[in-house]
Amino acid sequence: MGDIFVVVEHRQGVIREITHEMLWKAGELGRALSRKVSAVLFCHDGARMIEEIRDRADRILLVESDAFKNFSSDLYKELLARLIAEHAPLLTLMGHTAWGMDLAPALSVKSGLPLATDCMDILWEGDRLKAVRQVYSGKLFSKVSFKEAPGYLATIRAGAFPQEKSGEHSAEVQEIDLPADLPAERRRFVEFVDTGAGEVDISQADLLISVGRGIGEEENIGKIKELADRLGGVLACSRPVVDKNWLPKYHQVGTSGKSVKPKVYLALGISGAFQHVAGISGAGTVIAVNKDKKAPIFRVAHYGVVDDLFKVADALMEKIGG
Ligand code: FAD
Repeated sequence: MGDIFVVVEHRQGVIREITHEMLWKAGELGRALSRKVSAVLFCHDGARMIEEIRDRADRILLVESDAFKNFSSDLYKELLARLIAEHAPLLTLMGHTAWGMDLAPALSVKSGLPLATDCMDILWEGDRLKAVRQVYSGKLFSKVSFKEAPGYLATIRAGAFPQEKSGEHSAEVQEIDLPADLPAERRRFVEFVDTGAGEVDISQADLLISVGRGIGEEENIGKIKELADRLGGVLACSRPVVDKNWLPKYHQVGTSGKSVKPKVYLALGISGAFQHVAGISGAGTVIAVNKDKKAPIFRVAHYGVVDDLFKVADALMEKIGG
């Protein structure tokens, strides 16, 4: 019977959180369906990564090569298609990340297997594999079922599952040689550019005061910065604030920004798009202020205020004697 494959995502030699989340889900599904979990690791030097995931999978399919110093969608697609043809996994999980968004559609075409993208959950119901996805900017969930196929592909949204170990595993490592006849890559990796820590490191802060597009204008940011300073916190933001050049990139929380784990996350005028909330899955208490009571941020917030953010900011300032 086919395993559940998890494509291990890593950057600069470090396994990314999404991998642990997918391994958790694969472990849960594996137990329910009596399937083994295979972590598929393509890398340059795997020793440390193998140790990190050994107790989260039953098998590690390892291809070590200089070709995998950096991510290459072309190479991953070719090699994964061959491994899928050989091992016939029931399901192959990839992150709904820059990697997965690049790789999964091409792999689906190459392997002929159906793909569900950006899944919040994967279920086996009746005799069908089903995927839970969000629609209408996260306001509704939809459940889609795959047509019967010899195997299935899915990309998983960051933060959808816990990062803990799921059950007892002890992986055997199966080394595979990089085939000599892989087609040439059509794209070439040029450079890894780190955004850098900048003046503040939001990933280490205990209290984050985060502003979204609801801040309205650049001039209003100063007011919230003052509030953050008074509270002893650090200013963070959603992506539109960075795109408008109102704050530098190192303030950005989310899938294309930073993952944060403050004790308290105060979200002011942030709608709660999944790319943003994926970055706060490690936060302690989330407090959201938004004018729209249906804003998706309230789904993840422990406390919510449906009101104008400036009213709340002023009230807080008054309370702390501003
Ligand atoms: P909006 O969605 O416009 O929400 C503004 C909110 O403010 C609304 O809910 C509104 O009701 C509220 N509001 C308005 N005025 C007030 C007021 N006066 N008082 C109170 N509430 C008010 N986004 C990220 O944040 N981080 C990422 O890393 C990220 N990566 C991405 C990667 C990709 C590949 C893509 C496609 C998108 C990414 N995004 C990311 C963008 C993301 O999809 C959303 O567009 C973004 O998070 C929305 O930001 P926002 O909540 O500030 O703005």
